[in-house]
Amino acid sequence: MESTRILLEAHEIPTHWYNIAADLPVPLAPPLLADGSVAQPEQLGVIFPPAIVEQEMSTERWIEIPHEVRDIFRLWRPAPLVRAVRLENALGTPAKIFFKYEGISPAGSHKPNSAVPQAYYNREAGIRRLTTETGAGQWGASLALAGQMFGLEVRVYMVKVSYEQKPYRRMMMQTWGAEVFSSPSSLTECGRKILAEMPDTPGSLGIAISEAVEEAAGRADTNYALGSVLNHVVVHQSIIGLEAKKQLEKIGLYPDMVIAPCGGGSSFGGIAFPFLGDKAAGDKRAANLRAIAVEPSSCPSLTRGRYTYDFGDASGFTPMMKMFTLGHDFVPAGIHAGGLRYHGASQLVSQLYQSGLIEAVAVPQLATFDAGVQFARLEGIIPAPESCHAIRVAVDEALRCKETGEEKVILFNLTGHGHFDMSSFERYFAGALEDYEYPAEEVEKSLAKLPKFG
Ligand SMILES: *Cc1c(COP(=O)(O)O)cnc(C)c1O
Repeated sequence: MESTRILLEAHEIPTHWYNIAADLPVPLAPPLLADGSVAQPEQLGVIFPPAIVEQEMSTERWIEIPHEVRDIFRLWRPAPLVRAVRLENALGTPAKIFFKYEGISPAGSHKPNSAVPQAYYNREAGIRRLTTETGAGQWGASLALAGQMFGLEVRVYMVKVSYEQKPYRRMMMQTWGAEVFSSPSSLTECGRKILAEMPDTPGSLGIAISEAVEEAAGRADTNYALGSVLNHVVVHQSIIGLEAKKQLEKIGLYPDMVIAPCGGGSSFGGIAFPFLGDKAAGDKRAANLRAIAVEPSSCPSLTRGRYTYDFGDASGFTPMMKMFTLGHDFVPAGIHAGGLRYHGASQLVSQLYQSGLIEAVAVPQLATFDAGVQFARLEGIIPAPESCHAIRVAVDEALRCKETGEEKVILFNLTGHGHFDMSSFERYFAGALEDYEYPAEEVEKSLAKLPKFG
């Protein structure tokens, strides 16, 4: 029997990241400060090291991955590409379904792909401490791991609802030496202000980002690290798609569809952009490629948001970026895919969506768990709730192929395992998981407060 796993050797880990900023139809709109002026590199330098600021603004197509970073990647990369044969058979689809399994990292998701280089560049710049936010705990755990590898202290502001729902990720962070606080916290001015206004808030990524940025901006030895959204994070995650492309080439295939969950957009951009780069270069194999970002219907920034300038955090500390947003102070429902509870989407993903070069779909929570459980029973791997979003759409597309008889090649990003999300599955089996309506009124309120630029 043919193997369903397509593996690469350690020396096949890519040596360069791909940067889609080099291949955009029009350049990205620049980030703006609150007064409408263009944010300068020195201003980003208050919370980011020089190499990250450079990558954030770079339009170089290929960016070299430092040796020390690749050495750490070798602990778990290259990640396997797996053909989901048992899922295909159960669905009775003529489509070939492949997933890139990022849950193999020590933290259990794709997020160390950016945490490791971010910690490296900060250490190179003489920084001693990093602050960050985390939703479900995947990014906080990844940065705790990376900080440990490079001797940096890490402080994590963990969104309150996740702090309570996902205690084991908090313990992972602590095992890797990080300090973890429930956000909003009383450690920061913005945290105290939000607690005074909304004492029962479940928290949000936007709020936790405000707390982490406030602390980093106030201390010279401390920088901030963001787990998604920003260009440099999307660049780092391109390793996913670059490896997947090599793996598919080994068996003579090329995807017709690339599907990923979309929170801030780095895991989607990470797997899809290297293929879109082929398309931009006129590669015939990519001519009809579909790239599909999947978001929760309770937090649908691409499908229901507005394309405009908005802040990256709840309190308006970050520069404004032109992106699809639901409004920076919008607090999404406490869905179990904590990593998808972000009000906006990466500028790169947003611009490509606006230009019609990628697609987006919003799916309700219960349907994602239906697909995730079906997948676990056939393929063995228990997916993270965020990843269940991509599985839902991969299954739907495979079923569509069954109707049309098309033998499409479907590639999706299995961004992480769900071993620390089992209480979410427990609620699903108990019939206690809800679908949330799209909160039109809340979003309207939040959008009414958008900054007036762009
Ligand atoms: C964070 C996370 C996501 C969302 O990733 P983005 O890059 O922010 O879109 C998806 N899946 C898992 C497992 C995650 O931890």
